[in-house]
Amino acid sequence: MKAAPFAYVRPSKLSDAVAELAGTSGGGKVIAGGQSLAPVLAMRLARPDTLADINSVEELDEFALSGEALHIGATVRQRRVERDPLSRSVPLLRLALPWVGHRELRSRGTVCGSLAHADPAAELPAVACCLDAELSLSGPGPGRWRPGSSSAGR
Ligand SMILES: Cc1cc2nc3c(=O)[nH]c(=O)nc-3n(C[C@H](O)[C@H](O)[C@H](O)COP(=O)(O)OP(=O)(O)OC[C@H]3O[C@@H](n4cnc5c(N)ncnc54)[C@H](O)[C@@H]3O)c2cc1C
Repeated sequence: MKAAPFAYVRPSKLSDAVAELAGTSGGGKVIAGGQSLAPVLAMRLARPDTLADINSVEELDEFALSGEALHIGATVRQRRVERDPLSRSVPLLRLALPWVGHRELRSRGTVCGSLAHADPAAELPAVACCLDAELSLSGPGPGRWRPGSSSAGR
């Protein structure tokens, strides 16, 4: 099968990506590494009217240690986190990453994409819950979500 038709946009600013998605009639989706989304589209399990490709949004490429917190932007690949010495500060994350699929998949797949996809069998959402990770969400109305806390899902 092939994906149903969709509009493709590749904004270079986060605010433009948010505006593109807000402008759809609820059928927009983000594409990051495409490792889960591409098969879902190909099987027509999802039929978004717009795909917002966030890979040109430079501000989402942040990978930095600030105090004890490791900041992982939405376009940061799993393989980069696995290999970068900065991730030694979060040993559980470093231990879990090699178990995610295979190396080629991790070269494209993002940490945040795995969290957003939220497969109950996936390693990274479990790690995020164990470490009480904070997800910073951007949208027309900004907010924060903290897995494992009573605010989960807000
Ligand atoms: C063959 C194969 C084997 C796999 N094996 C494993 C495994 O062993 N363990 C494991 O944990 N996972 C596994 N996966 C899943 C895979 O690791 C992740 O689902 C994938 O890396 C998600 O990241 P992505 O950047 O590719 O997301 P995409 O495929 O681009 O997106 C996935 C979903 O998340 C949404 N999304 C992505 N980024 C954002 C964002 N920034 N904001 C909002 N929504 C967003 C998309 O709209 C889509 O719904 C496997 C996948 C495949 C195809």
